[in-house]
Amino acid sequence: MIALARKGHLRLPAPVTCDIRSQLREELEARFKDWGAPAYRLTQLLEWLYVHRATGWDQMTNIPKALRQQLAGEFSLHELTLARQQGARDTTRKFLWQLADGAFIESVLIPANPALYSEASDRQTLCVSTQVGCAYGCRFCASGLEGWKRNLGVDEIVGQILAVERLAAAEAGGSSAPGNSRAVTNLVFMGMGEPLANYNNLLKALRILNAPWGCGIGARKITISTSGLAPQIRRLAEEPEQFQLAISLHGATDEVRNRIMPVNRKYPLNELAAAAEQYQKRKGRMITLEYILIEGVNDHLDQTAPLAKLAQRLHAKVNLIPYNKVEGLEWRRPAEEHCIAFAERLRQNGVTATLRLEKGHDIDAACGQLRLKTEKELAAQPAST
Ligand code: SF4
Repeated sequence: MIALARKGHLRLPAPVTCDIRSQLREELEARFKDWGAPAYRLTQLLEWLYVHRATGWDQMTNIPKALRQQLAGEFSLHELTLARQQGARDTTRKFLWQLADGAFIESVLIPANPALYSEASDRQTLCVSTQVGCAYGCRFCASGLEGWKRNLGVDEIVGQILAVERLAAAEAGGSSAPGNSRAVTNLVFMGMGEPLANYNNLLKALRILNAPWGCGIGARKITISTSGLAPQIRRLAEEPEQFQLAISLHGATDEVRNRIMPVNRKYPLNELAAAAEQYQKRKGRMITLEYILIEGVNDHLDQTAPLAKLAQRLHAKVNLIPYNKVEGLEWRRPAEEHCIAFAERLRQNGVTATLRLEKGHDIDAACGQLRLKTEKELAAQPAST
């Protein structure tokens, strides 16, 4: 663990200027035009930002000093501070970042899992956060425990990918300028927060991550996961990109979902299913239904019938995830044989179902757990330290 700003004590000032990694190419193009800077300088700048993952203006040695000074006067270039890192035995790694205002967020790097994808690959998936805390209060989730603090800015979303890649490059050879290879190949927006509740910043960040001039990660390698914000799903369906959609379902009836996911009272299953259907039809892509198996709550084999019916209606596959214990919450993980039987029953109903052998079970991998743990530790520290 490295030095942390103590919560509510050594709070760092929030950035006053706009971070350059919150800007689309066309926005920067307009700025360069105003300044009379040639277009190729912008190409050089974007390479420094998204290929070399520069953390300071001084590193951009092929850009004239006067232009760098102009950029530094207009934009900030903040780096996320790595506050804590945990690695699991199976090499899933969790990063706790401290933001400029002292808040914490998490990202988790998950290597390809042959059990899930049926073949070995170089895939490295980063699970990304979009908010500090979460307002949606799903009963089984650590992120919602202390409520919502704020939305992440575009640069704070993009910054998680760049920071993880910078660390990977440094570990691979000590270089901060590793060239074109990307350590992160796939993204899932399933970390802290409800991504679609931070819609505008999410979309802008996705466009930077997807753009050939940005991180160049294909839209089909980017999955947005929502707890069920039906209107935003419909809005996303009308965007031109082919992002993958996952729905954190966790219950196949209103009765079960109402019990564990308050969002279902606002957007009940029929409304959610209609929005998801629109997305599926519009994009022609298979949706994923995420289903955390919680003992005695949603794991009865009776639940497989409505779940299979919904999956068939949406042309969706089902990802079953045995629950990860969260300290302070009552829920439990079902026995492994029971999870296998649940998956098997779904398959008998004609549904593609994977049982995710959850990585990171030993590193507080359920979203929000590391942040809560760190905040509690900081709160317990004497004020003089
Ligand atoms: S599961 Fe997602 S939407 Fe629900 S409280 Fe946790 S972070 Fe928020």
